[in-house]
Amino acid sequence: MKSVRVLSVAAELYPLIKTGGLADVTGALPIALKPEGIEVRTVVPGYPSVMNSLGSVEGVLHLPQFFGGEARLLRATSCELGLFVLDAPHLFARPGNPYLRPDGVDWPDNALRFAALARIAADIGLGAVPSFVPDIVHAHDWHAALALAYLHYSDRRRPATVMTVHNLAYQGVFPRELLAAIGLPPESFTIHGVEYYGKIGFLKAGLYFADRITTVSPTYASEILSGEGGMGLGGLLRERSCDLSAILNGVDTSVWDPATDPHIPGCFYTDMPSCFESDVLENRATNKAALQRRLGLQPAPDAFLLGVIGRLSRQKGLDLLFDNLPTIVSEGMQLAVLGSGDSDLQYRYRAAAQANPERVGVSIGHDEGLAHLIQAGADAIVVPSRFEPCGLTQLCALRYGTVPIVSRVGGLEDTVVDAGDLAVTGGRQTGFKFGPVTTENLADVLQRACATFHDVAAWRRIQRNGMSTDVSWRDPASRYADLYRSLVELPQEVELPQEKVA
Ligand code: ADP
Repeated sequence: MKSVRVLSVAAELYPLIKTGGLADVTGALPIALKPEGIEVRTVVPGYPSVMNSLGSVEGVLHLPQFFGGEARLLRATSCELGLFVLDAPHLFARPGNPYLRPDGVDWPDNALRFAALARIAADIGLGAVPSFVPDIVHAHDWHAALALAYLHYSDRRRPATVMTVHNLAYQGVFPRELLAAIGLPPESFTIHGVEYYGKIGFLKAGLYFADRITTVSPTYASEILSGEGGMGLGGLLRERSCDLSAILNGVDTSVWDPATDPHIPGCFYTDMPSCFESDVLENRATNKAALQRRLGLQPAPDAFLLGVIGRLSRQKGLDLLFDNLPTIVSEGMQLAVLGSGDSDLQYRYRAAAQANPERVGVSIGHDEGLAHLIQAGADAIVVPSRFEPCGLTQLCALRYGTVPIVSRVGGLEDTVVDAGDLAVTGGRQTGFKFGPVTTENLADVLQRACATFHDVAAWRRIQRNGMSTDVSWRDPASRYADLYRSLVELPQEVELPQEKVA
């Protein structure tokens, strides 16, 4: 098997810096690729949380004037991950969320910050660090995408490239006046380059120049080729559809392992069906009680406890769930919400918890431990997204015996089997799905799930089916490995699309 070197370029990397699923993927995939003979190094910005996590560090490049300040490229290892860290304090030495100021507004220099990440990635791709010259540069989302443009406009031999779309809604679009500041030549500002409706489109550029494009579920792959789902990039994606493939995400089963999870009081094994009744049920009941205590909910073992973990946003459909609170409360269900985001939704959920403290518990913020406790203690996880590229919370839920209730979009459609889908998929039911995504359809599915919850034997069957689903990285990693191997055998230049972007 040919050994392949990959430079992964990412703005987030679990466990060093995380706001969502992107970090989970970029953190887990390099480790899952090791048995495939793929050597991955990840280049990340030197945010404070990254700098503080590094053990021994080697300076590999000194960059006296790099995007407006002095910077260094460091080489380090942290949590089994091989890293390059762009230590550029003028760009990244800022606390909190990597993209937003403390008041929730984008940092005004985000174009420069992520162009800098992309530039250093391209430099490594072109051989700036002789001890690690990658065969492939793999860019994740818009923050990394410009690397593929820098590689294209270099006159040096370049590595092959992969662009992964984790969420097409975030595209990195900036004023054209920044072209010189980010170091791209004037001729790059064309429809056949980085230009995107009169501005600079980072993700557009990545999608245009990548040798291969991937996204994170088959249904999302077809959604983004459609008019609405393409979010302005559908035309370009359709042009490039021969080079587009879908590889479902997995979850890191060492982080999300109910048998060893340090965040939960009742650990349980999932791979011994014979022990299901005694081990799983007893320990899940312990976790449910702990979750109810933690959020001040009534300690009711038989109440149908719904969990939510995620960004409080329109994408996630949590306004629709909010509209269903009267049903949830009147039907005797409970709701545990962990998330942050839209300030109006934060306010409304907090107010709902104050009005119904025994039924609704809300924690606003990012809390890794509570996320694990919800997965281990809730009866069901609700993911009513309007669109969802893959979704990770429903995958973790399957592993923890928590039944997913999801909308029929993107990766949710691909990873959960509803009773109504059995004839189609031939699979075993692992959860509940609804669609189209409306308040009424969500109400119906919640009631359907609640009724099944009270049919103990039926509910256990669904839990067992979920827990025996393989949600690990094993299969997805082997698909990425195949993709990489196919690319290193390719000639360097691919034919670029010539049509105008829709
Ligand atoms: P996203 O679109 O936000 O990336 P995903 O479902 O793909 O959604 O991934 C979300 C990841 O972030 C999961 O690992 C989930 O557990 C985690 N997560 C989301 N919100 C929170 C939070 N408030 N606290 C802790 N973990 C969270």
